[in-house]
Amino acid sequence: MAVDSPLSSQLGPPACERDAKALHFIEETTSHADSVQDRVLTEILTRNSQTEYLTRFKLNGATDRETFKSKLPIITYEDLQPEIHRIANGDRSAILSAHPISEFLTSSGTSAGERKLMPTIKEELDRRRLLYSLLMPVMNLYVPGLERGKGLYFLFVKSETRTPGGLLARPVLTSYYKSDHFKTRPYDPYNVYTSPNEAILCPDSFQSMYAQMLCGLLQRQQVLRVGAVFASGLLRAIRFLQLNWRQLTQDIETGALNPKLTDTSLREYMDKILKPNPELAECVRHECSKDNWEGIIARIWQNTKYLDVIVTGAMAQYIPTLDYYSGGLPLACTMYASSECYFGLNLNPMCKPSQVSYTIMPNMAYFEFLPHEPDSFGFPCDSPPKLVDLVDVEVGKEYELVITTYAGLYRYRVGDILRVTGFHNSAPQFHFVRRKNVLLSIDSDKTDEAELQKAVENASRLLREFNTSVVEYTSYADTRTIPGHYVIYWELLGKDSANSPTDEVLKQCCLAMEESLNSVYRQGRVADNSIGPLEIRVVKNGTFEELMDYAISRGASINQYKVPRCVNFTPIMELLDSRVVSSHFSPASPHWTPERRR
Ligand code: AMP
Repeated sequence: MAVDSPLSSQLGPPACERDAKALHFIEETTSHADSVQDRVLTEILTRNSQTEYLTRFKLNGATDRETFKSKLPIITYEDLQPEIHRIANGDRSAILSAHPISEFLTSSGTSAGERKLMPTIKEELDRRRLLYSLLMPVMNLYVPGLERGKGLYFLFVKSETRTPGGLLARPVLTSYYKSDHFKTRPYDPYNVYTSPNEAILCPDSFQSMYAQMLCGLLQRQQVLRVGAVFASGLLRAIRFLQLNWRQLTQDIETGALNPKLTDTSLREYMDKILKPNPELAECVRHECSKDNWEGIIARIWQNTKYLDVIVTGAMAQYIPTLDYYSGGLPLACTMYASSECYFGLNLNPMCKPSQVSYTIMPNMAYFEFLPHEPDSFGFPCDSPPKLVDLVDVEVGKEYELVITTYAGLYRYRVGDILRVTGFHNSAPQFHFVRRKNVLLSIDSDKTDEAELQKAVENASRLLREFNTSVVEYTSYADTRTIPGHYVIYWELLGKDSANSPTDEVLKQCCLAMEESLNSVYRQGRVADNSIGPLEIRVVKNGTFEELMDYAISRGASINQYKVPRCVNFTPIMELLDSRVVSSHFSPASPHWTPERRR
């Protein structure tokens, strides 16, 4: 018998018995958030009591919150570098976790220009699967009938490497898609994808995307939802369709697969399902050959009820473009997760993007919250910050998320700033405010101020022989192009007008900046094609002074004025763009290999 829950009682009954169980689990876990957190912390500390890390801090087997909080420091990734280095180099002793480290997850956050390596253990896969299993039962409460069709999801694996000690290092989603949890998942009518595993797991990104798009077109009438993990990924798929619809429609028309698809298992699969279908080819061609692509998603996949993509945080910049291509279909943000830990889900997934709140699931890890004072630059040394427990956060306040995980991160600062919007039972719900210290982001890249500064410094060396220097700069993530690209505004000071840097030199400056940026950025440029060539826009002398005048006219203090190193406020953009004297694009791809530099 289905157990009713407050979630479903507001919205109608669960779609099936399995959904009822999932909803009941959500209700139970969020209703007893504090005791679940107690249990989680006890479990983590008990099983890991003999680890080098917990022994070092003399926890002596204690599992209570008070002792834990008084003895263990709050840490960042940098603090864990020595331990992570040892694990990566093959030390298999119980350093952080009593369970063997099964692999490293490569986070899109970086440290010294390289992806962070997050150690994980096998059973974390079960926890991730558990969170995934809750998403459709919630969605089914809002959108009925999803079992009658399929989801067109663009999902990809990325390259993986091995650490010197032999552990795999790869992104969390690659790890998940390659796991049996995903590959041999039981049939679930509510979760059928148009993309076969052969396409999702194909390591060649062109072939993978081509096959997924082709499968989506072949099954266009069955598609009820269209998605990707992040908004940028879905827009990349639209761009791919723009570039490849002629070949795709030819394949559909003739039933013969594009010879560029050489992956054997992919070809075998496609050969089975691809039959000549001139009528479908004509229909897709008719839509794609129009100059105006507004609403293309809804025109091709007419039965789509919503887009399933993350449009919170840095991805919010893509909402207008998604609205354009989808003709205003609802945008559903379903979950909030990271390489370190999957955190929670959106219990009201059909709400507007600006109203998305994620409910942290108390069973996933032990959560603490560092009160975040906007505009403060750290805490005085004599008063250590007081962390707040999950159930004790206050509505309206902002916090930085701190986690203790089963995989062996203890009081680890994730770097995300969240604002409490309310509670579901006793579990708080959070609006994702932003990631700390991120200036620019197009896809999963996260470039901070120091990285940008270093890139400008390195590139501006090329100007020395022209007696020219960069006097001011700022940046902008231009997402009007697909893929988006970084724009850097430069104000130059040249001492020799007869010998000013040429277009070719400034192009090389663009490339030099790209070479200096972190490996996630360069991977996006080279392997994933998710970031376009970097652009330098040279602005007229005096532009940055005008920028300051503008800020002061709006109330900024003249003494404390600092040039913003990233801009996105329309009047400021307009001012900058109206002063552009020349614009230059990176002429080549920067260097990138899956191997780490260190
Ligand atoms: P990674 O470790 O590379 O998987 O990146 C995880 C980070 O991506 C998180 O810490 C967030 O900053 C961001 N992120 C993940 N999910 C969301 C979401 N639903 N909304 C906004 N940002 C998110």
